[in-house]
Amino acid sequence: MSDVRAQINEQAAAVEQQVIDWRHQVHQNPELPNRESDTAKLVADHLKSLNFDEVKTGVAHHGVVGILKGGQAGDQVMGLRADMDALPIKELQDIAFKSTKVDGDYPGGPFPVGHMCGHDCHTVMLMGAATVLANLRSELPGTVKFIFQPAEEGPPITEEGGAGMMVKQGVLNDPKPDMMFVLHTAPYPDDTVFYTPNYTLASSDYLSIKIKGAGVHGSTPWEGKDPMPVAAEIISALAQVYRQVPATDAMTISIGKVVDEGRFNTIGDDIELIGTIRIIQDEIIDDVHKRVTRIAKHIAEAHGLTATTEFKQHVPALNNDPKWLDRILPTVRRIMGDDKVIQGPANLAYDDASEFVNPIGGAYLLLGGQDVEVVDGGFQPKKDGRGFWFNHSPHFYWNDPNLINGVKLHSHVTYDFLTGKI
Ligand SMILES: [Zn+2]
Ligand SMILES: [Zn+2]
Repeated sequence: MSDVRAQINEQAAAVEQQVIDWRHQVHQNPELPNRESDTAKLVADHLKSLNFDEVKTGVAHHGVVGILKGGQAGDQVMGLRADMDALPIKELQDIAFKSTKVDGDYPGGPFPVGHMCGHDCHTVMLMGAATVLANLRSELPGTVKFIFQPAEEGPPITEEGGAGMMVKQGVLNDPKPDMMFVLHTAPYPDDTVFYTPNYTLASSDYLSIKIKGAGVHGSTPWEGKDPMPVAAEIISALAQVYRQVPATDAMTISIGKVVDEGRFNTIGDDIELIGTIRIIQDEIIDDVHKRVTRIAKHIAEAHGLTATTEFKQHVPALNNDPKWLDRILPTVRRIMGDDKVIQGPANLAYDDASEFVNPIGGAYLLLGGQDVEVVDGGFQPKKDGRGFWFNHSPHFYWNDPNLINGVKLHSHVTYDFLTGKI
């Protein structure tokens, strides 16, 4: 048994340079949600070269699902997931493999494209684990299901995509995983893993409030129906929702975009407010939606206009079952070291990995990789380092030497689970 564990470490070390090279290639060629064709091809070609039992492509547009059957008897199925998409953010870190890509065809674009959420790292760490586990398949009981997911950051609003679409297309069946394991890069110290029991990440809804007015010359607002003051009142009033649900239930409502049709001397017809709602406790989502809808409707009506509210692209909150964490963390501590596996707070970001982890069980862990240290329970950038930058910042970065941690964690957790150690 321990012999196989040593072999996993040897195999991980052997594949490390290839993983780093892949990372630079994927990082320099980032692709926006639902456009991950080149990344998906790199993944699928690699899994085929390892003689996987099955490599399915085109799942939820560009998803790749690989099946690797072990050479030993066993009926357990391990599920591993990596997301592949990038963000419409211009990369500002000065690194040798920096992205300068611009996607000119994307809806709403052109957009600069950058791997500012670290999904390049997730993709190549799981490709590395595929190599390790394929080379040791004669030692593995059971089956490993590799899920390479597109569009985690949300597809264009006119398109479907992401984990929910993969689930609808049956990715959790034939075979159904018995455990899911997911890693995400984070701006935490090199060589650390952070975990949060219970609700780890928030649910997310895309919020659209359409206010129907009647455009008119800016000098005679009484001749029309001005949607602008209504928009302003609705934005302000949304803050009252925080006072209508228990303050202990973490929630944010943010309007990030106002689409209007006016100009300095013209009141436009309609306004759309676009934003996001994040909620940690699943139980209050419907209630919050009703309150937001009510506020928008009645403020608009108070001024003789109408407003319609829609919630789209729902992603459930991510729930790390403590019973599963108790089973998995001993393996993680063995690989990383006890003092490197740290409990962290929940946060209101989302990850649609919840579509996999919640119904199956397993764990979602954050993997540190920045020039950062923990000081008095908080994070401080190291002197002469590249700073402390969150995912989605144009300055986000993640150090290559941490990639092997991901390869090892995927491989060891899989081996320990399939052999009944987890
Ligand atoms: Zn992200
Ligand atoms: Zn992400």
